[in-house]
Amino acid sequence: MVQDVQTEKVVIIGSGPAGLTAALYTGRANLDPLVITGDALGGQVAITSEVENYPGFPEGLGGPELVERFQKQAERFGARFEFDHVTEVDFNEGPPYLIKTHSHTYRAWAVIVTVGASPRRLGIPGEEEFIGRGVSYCGTCDGFFFRGKDILVVGGGDSALEEGLFLTKFANTVRIVHRRDELRAGTFLQNRAKKNEKISFIWDTVLEEIEGDGSVQSAKARNVKTGEVTTLQTDGTFIFIGHIPNSYLFEGQLEMDDDGYLIADSLMQTSKEGVFAAGEIQDRVYRQVATSVGQGCAAAMSAIRWLESKEEEIEGAEMAEAGG
Ligand code: NAP
Repeated sequence: MVQDVQTEKVVIIGSGPAGLTAALYTGRANLDPLVITGDALGGQVAITSEVENYPGFPEGLGGPELVERFQKQAERFGARFEFDHVTEVDFNEGPPYLIKTHSHTYRAWAVIVTVGASPRRLGIPGEEEFIGRGVSYCGTCDGFFFRGKDILVVGGGDSALEEGLFLTKFANTVRIVHRRDELRAGTFLQNRAKKNEKISFIWDTVLEEIEGDGSVQSAKARNVKTGEVTTLQTDGTFIFIGHIPNSYLFEGQLEMDDDGYLIADSLMQTSKEGVFAAGEIQDRVYRQVATSVGQGCAAAMSAIRWLESKEEEIEGAEMAEAGG
């Protein structure tokens, strides 16, 4: 079946804080933006129980509520949402650029890429098999199921400690397994974790396999200094070892660094004119709701200016389309 190709002034790929802010700004500029949301509206913050460091909310608020507010505000200014996944883009020809989802094909003059990053996996036997049955990458989502249980948390960064602390609300014990004998996390979280009676540390250790029968029961651990392999009994394994940018769609089309983060200049423009990037797809450093919002705003403002500079070309193309 031949699909109709719809031409848009701005398409925003992704719907986390960066994408929803870009939708608000391009909406207020009367550009009628289309947001292609991806798997879940709101991205990672939508599965965060409590956001305490987003300015303007002194009491904190739930991640889903913040996302709902972002969406409502963008819709108020005309943003439209397609709850679908982008399957293909062609930034080598255009603008306007081709974007395909499962159900539609678009051409977009400006594109704002805000597809974020996903949790890095350990890549060990049993990990994939037990996802949802004891292996998790999200304490907020799954902590509730571990009430009174003993769990392992893998990682030594801020995420591992923050999530480990959150998990002590439910779990009986939380053992943090780290591959070195020194944490990467900041001092504040380190102090809180070390003071928490439910938390203990297993240093210089990596997991080699996750085992169980229907659900997680144990993990094989190796001490990287002595080589000793032990079996740790556990009801669950939470893994927080960083993120991988979701940039696979753009390979060969947009410049990225060795780890797959998109490269954007100070105007948030990628290596292709009219294609902008914001949020964690191009930010390996800050990764905060507040910084993603700021970057989404900057990318939208750049897209608005770039579209103004293309006004004649776009009008000409629209007239030709209407006439032909
Ligand atoms: P991160 O800082 O990159 O830490 C990843 C941790 O996982 C490190 O301890 C690393 O070990 C370990 N690791 C990586 N690959 C591993 C592997 N294959 N096997 C075992 N361990 C592995 O990631 P993050 O904790 O997600 O934090 C990302 C950024 O977000 C940071 O800038 C952080 O400050 C920020 N953040 C801030 C907050 C907050 O301010 N409240 C909360 C969460 C995140 P090594 O240390 O040996 O490299």
